Amino acid sequence: MTALTGIAADLHTHTLASTHAFSTVAEVCAAAAAAGLAAVAITDHAPALPDAPHAWHFEGDDLPDRCAGVRLLMGAEVNVLDWDGTVDLPARTLAKLDFVIASLHRPCRPPGTRDQHTAAWLAVAGNPLIDCLGHPGQPDFSFDHEAVVLRCRETGTLIEINNHSPVARPGSDENCRAVARCCARHGVPVVVNTDAHWAGQVGDVSLALAMLAEIDFPEALVVNATHARLADWLRRRRGVAL
Ligand SMILES: [Zn+2]
Ligand SMILES: [Zn+2]
Repeated sequence: MTALTGIAADLHTHTLASTHAFSTVAEVCAAAAAAGLAAVAITDHAPALPDAPHAWHFEGDDLPDRCAGVRLLMGAEVNVLDWDGTVDLPARTLAKLDFVIASLHRPCRPPGTRDQHTAAWLAVAGNPLIDCLGHPGQPDFSFDHEAVVLRCRETGTLIEINNHSPVARPGSDENCRAVARCCARHGVPVVVNTDAHWAGQVGDVSLALAMLAEIDFPEALVVNATHARLADWLRRRRGVAL
């Protein structure tokens, strides 16, 4: 089995547009280039989170396709607002973006029951405009891993292995491992991201890699492990060229 040694692209990063993050788009791209990445996605928080930019942030066409020699993808981290999987950007905006992550964040949707969290993830995984379930290892939103992972297998939605979770969401370690094991068991692709809030964090997925190595996670299931694999996935899923 090929060993997973790093990622070719970081698909979850924040910039100054989310006010609890501290770097510009140019700084994030320069950091991605320095880390040897081929691509980076800017995925600032969608409007329902208190630190988020206005919805217009996600509708502009001013960013170039490449910056600092790195492919620049424009994305969003949208908020799941209810147990029906409603998110806080309209479909027409989601359709224009290059990569969309959906996450459960307490300020937008306080935790409910395990069944409600499961229902929300099942609905999100059924939305073709959402590419990835963000930091599903968070301990305050437990869910039925088996049901959601199998749904993602049907719909082609990625599960995120988030390097920031063990730090930002204490108690995530065991859940992240359990979610990853479930994906390995069912052959469901994942994406390994930093969730960087500072340019210095871009591309550093060392915590996630250590966890995946510990459980012998198959490298072939990591969509952003190689440029070719991610390029193929983005083309098929979103018609986006890497
Ligand atoms: Zn998040
Ligand atoms: Zn994030």
